[in-house]
Amino acid sequence: MFDSLSDRLGGVFDRLRGRGALTEADVRTAMREVRVALLEADVALPVARKFVDDVTEKAIGQDVLRSVTPGQQVVKIVNDELIAMLGPDTAELEINVSPPAVIMLVGLQGSGKTTTTAKLAKRLSGTERKKVMMASLDVNRPAAQEQLAVLGQQAEVATLPIVQGQQPVDIARRALQSAKLQGHDVLLLDTAGRLHVDQALMDEMKAVADIAKPAEILLVVDSLTGQDAVNVATSFSEQVPLTGVILTRMDGDARGGAALSMRSVTGKPIKFAGMGEKLDALEAFHPKRVAGRILGMGDVVSLVEKAAATIEQEDAERMASRLAKGKFDMNDLRAQLQQMRRMGGIGGIAGMMPGLKKAQAAMASGAVDERLLLRMDAMITSMTPTEREKPALLNAKRKIRVAKGSGTTVQDVNRLLKMHQEMQTAMKKIKKMGGIKGMMAMLG
Ligand code: GDP
Repeated sequence: MFDSLSDRLGGVFDRLRGRGALTEADVRTAMREVRVALLEADVALPVARKFVDDVTEKAIGQDVLRSVTPGQQVVKIVNDELIAMLGPDTAELEINVSPPAVIMLVGLQGSGKTTTTAKLAKRLSGTERKKVMMASLDVNRPAAQEQLAVLGQQAEVATLPIVQGQQPVDIARRALQSAKLQGHDVLLLDTAGRLHVDQALMDEMKAVADIAKPAEILLVVDSLTGQDAVNVATSFSEQVPLTGVILTRMDGDARGGAALSMRSVTGKPIKFAGMGEKLDALEAFHPKRVAGRILGMGDVVSLVEKAAATIEQEDAERMASRLAKGKFDMNDLRAQLQQMRRMGGIGGIAGMMPGLKKAQAAMASGAVDERLLLRMDAMITSMTPTEREKPALLNAKRKIRVAKGSGTTVQDVNRLLKMHQEMQTAMKKIKKMGGIKGMMAMLG
């Protein structure tokens, strides 16, 4: 996620931070670069323009330029504006109404609506312990209702029995009655999609909403469609009273333009992000963390959280204290790799750990997570204790030894070193911002 944007911004900021004093012209030049980076990430033009104007005004207007660390201050302003652009807080579902609380999912065909309905149902019935029912109102796409029933079985969530030939508004009415009778807390309605936004679809949405009085109307959009996603969101938000957005396929979205524009164009928060095809691949959307990820610090907060859920308290504290000191040698990398294996592979973590994604793409043929982790571990094992503490010692001769010892190649060793270096750089950045605590304060 956001890989190239993150790289581009990283470059701009390194140049800014690298200077002692900044002039207004320096800031303007940097902001022109930021604007290009945003547009290349597919951020909608008016959104990019406003962003850059806001940042420029703040950076030039305040005492930033005269401060001791002007570069760092500008980065902080960008960080704050990014958070504002993504929406200030994590948006919760507003479903504390008299049951059943109805959640309607709307969007185009293929946006991931049905899958997301099931993901949301699983989440609500699992961690939130709600009694949930799902119903598909999609009578356009063949077998859409059956698809939801199958997903319901996988998620162990009840679905409304299918009555062939029944129309959406009637299905909604029946679902509501059923959910009431059976004492469900939440009723999820998966509505019909179309290939394009059209009036008939909008009218149908409105008719269903009139009957079902949803507590939430969530627009599901495919983040990979970039600018199109923004157009779809604009049309829907003009016609249907949306309460939030769910962006799907964020796992494959390297650019992130849709995510960055969505809040500005709809005025509604992104509530969740789809991160894969599996039913548990749905994450609450945390603007502050996403901003951190874009600014190239990796989503260390999420990583630490995820780790804390699986590792012993003591390990977590040790790790946090090393991180806070900005220290990160091969022993730390190895500890992280081992934790990762315990956490179940690279998939969900790659984006959070700076540099790992690139290493994975370069090294692994296919999805052999486990093997990649084992090979990295083997390489570190083949190093001497001094090498592990000071990887810079690894000259050509030593690299050949490590490669031989671990059954890998010198290129593999180089990639491991590169990845280690990237993580170390990230840790140093974190340290500069006052350690994990400072970073968390900055990210909110
Ligand atoms: P609908 O027509 O809007 O109901 O779309 P579906 O729910 O049938 O989804 C279409 C395809 O997208 C399916 O193959 C899903 O598995 C896939 N999909 C949905 N959400 C995600 C996601 O967040 N990430 C990825 N990688 N695939 C997704």
